[in-house]
Amino acid sequence: MPNKAKEGFGEIISKVSGAILNILLCSGIVLFLYAALAQPMKGEPEVGNFAVEYLNDGWELSGLKDGEKQIISLPASIERDALKGSTVIISRTLPENLDDGMNLLARSIMQDMVIYIDGAERVSYRTNDFVEMSEHLPSAFLEVPISSKDSGKTISIVITHKKRSAVAIEKIAYGYGGNTWYSVFRDSFATIVIATILIIFGTASIISYVLIRNRIRGRNYVFYLARILLIAGLWILGESELRQMFFGSPVVNTIFSYIFIETITAFGAMFFNSTQNYEHSKLYSVMIALIAFQSTLNLILQFAGIADLYETLIVSHILSIATLAVTAYSIIADIRNGHIRRYREIAIGMVFAISMGLFEVISFYTKPNHVFGVFLGLGLVALVFASFIQTLHDEVLVAQENVKLAEAEEIAQAASDAKGKFLASMSHEIRTPVNAIVGLGEMIDRETEEEKTKAYVADIKSASSTLLDLINDILDLSKLESGKMDIIESEYRFADMLAELYRMMKFRADDKMLDLTFEVDSELPTVVIGDTKRIRQILINLLTNAVKYTEKGYVKLSASLIGTDQITGEEGNTVNTARIRISVKDTGMGIKHEDIGRLTDKYVRVDERRNRNIEGTGLGLAITCELLNLMGSELKLESVYGKGSDFGFELVQKVKDATPLGKFDPDVKPGRKTSGRKPSFTIPEARILICDDNDMNIKVFSGLLKNMHPIIYKAASGKACLDMVEKEDPFDLIFLDHMMPEMDGIMTFERLCKMEGFDRDKTKVIILTANVISGARQQYMQTGFDDYLEKPVIPAALEAMIEKYLDPSKIVRKEDEEG
Ligand code: ADP
Repeated sequence: MPNKAKEGFGEIISKVSGAILNILLCSGIVLFLYAALAQPMKGEPEVGNFAVEYLNDGWELSGLKDGEKQIISLPASIERDALKGSTVIISRTLPENLDDGMNLLARSIMQDMVIYIDGAERVSYRTNDFVEMSEHLPSAFLEVPISSKDSGKTISIVITHKKRSAVAIEKIAYGYGGNTWYSVFRDSFATIVIATILIIFGTASIISYVLIRNRIRGRNYVFYLARILLIAGLWILGESELRQMFFGSPVVNTIFSYIFIETITAFGAMFFNSTQNYEHSKLYSVMIALIAFQSTLNLILQFAGIADLYETLIVSHILSIATLAVTAYSIIADIRNGHIRRYREIAIGMVFAISMGLFEVISFYTKPNHVFGVFLGLGLVALVFASFIQTLHDEVLVAQENVKLAEAEEIAQAASDAKGKFLASMSHEIRTPVNAIVGLGEMIDRETEEEKTKAYVADIKSASSTLLDLINDILDLSKLESGKMDIIESEYRFADMLAELYRMMKFRADDKMLDLTFEVDSELPTVVIGDTKRIRQILINLLTNAVKYTEKGYVKLSASLIGTDQITGEEGNTVNTARIRISVKDTGMGIKHEDIGRLTDKYVRVDERRNRNIEGTGLGLAITCELLNLMGSELKLESVYGKGSDFGFELVQKVKDATPLGKFDPDVKPGRKTSGRKPSFTIPEARILICDDNDMNIKVFSGLLKNMHPIIYKAASGKACLDMVEKEDPFDLIFLDHMMPEMDGIMTFERLCKMEGFDRDKTKVIILTANVISGARQQYMQTGFDDYLEKPVIPAALEAMIEKYLDPSKIVRKEDEEG
C-alpha cells in the first residue's frame, strides 16, 4: 500500500509541473505577441524605434477642383471627384533639426511622384521612366537624402495618377541612414513572417511529396496545397512594402506577382477537387480552364501594349470569386449528402480561407493603401493547419484500422496453426492403424492359399485403401488451403509415368468394359523435370472420375506437345521447356451446363440424384484445380450432358532429355503386380534393425521383409535402439520410426551419430513417417537421414529402398539363384 501512495504522489507532482510549464508557455507566447506589436511602456527608453520621426501633420494640399488649399495629415486619400485634374501637390516646411546623413522615405502607390525641396527636384518616379508599365507604376519607396542645410526649407511632393479613383498618400518618415528602412521592415514584419512560413512550408511539402508520393496513398491534396502555399508566399513577398530589398527589377517583380495572384484560385480549385474525391470535377474543370486561358491572355495583352495587367486584373478577380463560389457550392452539396464527413477539418479551413480571400479582394478595391496579402496569408495558414489536423485524424483512423486487422490476422493465424497441428497428429493417428491393416492384409494375402480368405483380404485391402485415399485428400486440401503444399520437382520419364497410370486404370476400365486408350504424341521429350507425384495425382483424379462416371464407350487420355520454349534457370542458365497439353475424354454421363461452375467447389458433388450410388466426396476436382494453379495452369472443361466430358489442362515442364519418346507402348515394362507377389531378390546376409514403439507396426514391417529373408532385429524405443547398436555387430540398415514417446526418431538418430563405434558410412538410416505435412521432407533430409519412407509402407517402395541402400553384394537376385 505505501508503495501505491508514493506512486500517487509522484503522479500528482508530474501533473502539476506539466500544467505549470504549459501555463508558462502560453504566457510566453502572449508576451511575445505583445512585445512585437506594442509601443514602449511608461518609463522605458525607446529602444525599438531607432529614432525615426514621421512628417505626418501640417501638409498643405493643393490641386482641388475649387482651387482651395487644405491642411491634411498622412496617411490620406483624396477622391478624384474633388480634384481638378489627376495631380495633387502637398507641401510643408522641413524641421529645423535636420542633420547630415539623414534620409526621408515617401511611398508611391502605383503613381507618378516627384519630390522637390526648396523648389529643386530631388527625386522623381515617373511613368515615362518605364517602358513596360504604361500608367500603373509598381509601388515603391522613394528615398531622399537630406542634410542640415535642408532644415526649415519647404518640401513639395507632386503626385499624379490618371486612372485610380483616389490618390493615396502614405505616411512619410525621416531619420538617420538605415533607421527609416528599419521602420519599414518593422511595419511589414507580420507580412514577411507569414510569407516566409508559406514559402518554407510549400517548398518542403512539394519536396516531401516528390520523395514519398508512393507511400502517401492517394493524399494528392498535399501536393496541391503545397503549390498554393508556395504561390501565396511568393506573391505576398512580391507585394510587400519591402519588395525593393528583395527584387532588383520592379517590372519583373510586378509581372510575377500578377501571374501568381491570377492563378492561385485555380490551384485552390485543384486542391479542393482532390480533397472532395473529384466528385464535383466538372465545375472545377471549367473554372480552372477559364483561369488558365484568361491569365495567359492577360500577359499577351500586356506585352502587346493593348491593356495592362492592372486593368485586366478585374477579370481575374471575377473568375476567382466565381471559383470561390463553386467551392462554396460544392461544400454545401457535400454537407447535404454527408460526404463532408470525409474532409470536415479541411472544409472548415477552406471556408475560413475563402472568407479571407474575399476580404483581400474587397480591401484591394476599397482601401487605396491596402496592404497586400495579410488576409489571404492568414487564411492559408489556417488552411494548412486544418489540413494538418485532417491528416493526423486520417492517420489515427488508419492506425486504428491496422490494429484491428492485425488482431484479426493473429486470431486467424492461431486458428490455422491449431488446424495444422490437429491435421499432423490426425494424419499420424489414422495412418498408423491403417498401416497395420494394409500390412497385415498383405501378409495374409502372401501366406494363404485359401480362395475364400484371399477374397476377404482383397475386400479389406480395397476398403483400407479407400480410407487412405480419403485421409490423403483431406490432408492435401488443408495443405493447399494453408499454402503449405510444395511443388517438388524431380526428373522423370514422361512415358513411364503414363504407362504406370495406364496399367493402374486398365483393371478398373476392364471391370466396366470400357475402352481405355492413351494417345501420346511421339514428339514429346523423353525425360522432363516436374512434380510427378502431383501430376500423377491430378491424372489419377481425372481418369478415376472418367471411369467412375462412364457406363459405356471409352475413356481416352491424350498428351501432345504444343510448343517448346526457353526460360532462365536459377543459376542464370537457359533451360528448355516443353508445353504439354493433356486431356481426359470420356463418353459418360456428362455434366449439366449450370453445374460446371460449381464442380471445383470443395465437398460439392453435382447431379446427386443420379450419382448417389457412385462413391465420392466431392474433393477430387477441387484438389486437382488447386494443384494445377500451384503449377501455374488451370483446368478446362467441355461437357455435353448425357454425351460425355473432356477435362484438359496445359503443363510446362523443364526438359532434361529432348529425345522424342517415340511410339507409346504402355506394356513395355509389364506392370509389376503389387499384391501377393514375391520379391525378385533375397537378402539373407543383410542385418536390419527396426525401431518402432508400436508393436503392430513392427510386426507388419517384419512381415513385409520376411520373404527377403534378412536378419531382423527389433527395438521398441529409441533407447532400445541405441542399446542394440552398441551391443550388436554393425547393421546395414536401420528403419527408425519418427513419432515415439520419450526419445523420438530424430533425437535417437542424433544420439546415434554421436556414438563411438557407430559407422555412419556403413549403416544407412531411414526414417519411417506418417507425418506428410509440408516441410517434413526437407526437415528429415537436413537432419541427415539417408531417406524417408512414408507410412503405410508400400511393399514395392520398401523393396526399392532396400535395393537402393543395401550393399549390392548382399543382394541375391532370383536369376542368380536359378543360374
Ligand atoms: P467425387 O469424389 O464426387 O468424384 P470430384 O471433385 O472428383 O468428386 O467431382 C465432383 C463432381 O463432378 C462429381 O460428383 C461428379 O458429379 C462430377 N464429375 C466429375 N468428373 C466427371 C466426369 N468425368 N463425368 C461426369 N461427371 C463428372
